[in-house]
Amino acid sequence: MSASILVVEDEPGIQELLKFNLGHHGHEVTVAADAEAATASMRDSLPDLILLDWMLPGASGIELARRVRGDPRLKDVPIIMLTARGDERDKILGLETGADDYITKPFSPRELMARIKAVLRRRAPQMTEDSVEIGGLKLDPLAHRVYGHFAGIDKPLDLGPTEFRLLHFLMTHAERVYSRSQLLDQVWGDHVFVEERTVDVHIRRLRSALEPTEHDRLIQTVRGAGYRLSSNLG
Ligand code: CA
Repeated sequence: MSASILVVEDEPGIQELLKFNLGHHGHEVTVAADAEAATASMRDSLPDLILLDWMLPGASGIELARRVRGDPRLKDVPIIMLTARGDERDKILGLETGADDYITKPFSPRELMARIKAVLRRRAPQMTEDSVEIGGLKLDPLAHRVYGHFAGIDKPLDLGPTEFRLLHFLMTHAERVYSRSQLLDQVWGDHVFVEERTVDVHIRRLRSALEPTEHDRLIQTVRGAGYRLSSNLG
């Protein structure tokens, strides 16, 4: 599992500790020392997760969490609050503001990694390495392989890297319709430099890659809305 993580923390020692540990686990880390720098960084690119310190110079972590949850483009990014406070009331306030989880300093890197994994699994299952199977189509993120069950056997299917990510996202969010712009945000990371018709191109490639086992039928076009992966072919 490799995620892009925005660390919002003003203490250099903790910045370094987080950068080292997250980097060591294969995550891509961006550090911002305050809410303004974090906002600027998220304008450039959407992180997969925000590690947010409560006590920041200027706007507090709680204020930043509120801003993130109030912004249509950012509202779904998972947040883990970091704080020196162990007060139960503060914990409740953090979670009410929209944080997904909460970790009290000093924390062990192992505990932090476990919480990051749990939050990503819940909020962004396409970031994890769990295998998914729908309607006889299997995707194994760890081995980076896709198999279609056809004529009694699992036949390996050949997908390009973008089609693989697109399929992984759709399979972990099955039965829901996503617009082109939502898919760009979720699969391409951000929509700033990519045109919406790019999605159509990759959906077309994905369908033809799934054709040998007839799983292209799972990828459905929803007129005027976008695309959906569904095992309901009716
Ligand atoms: Ca701080």
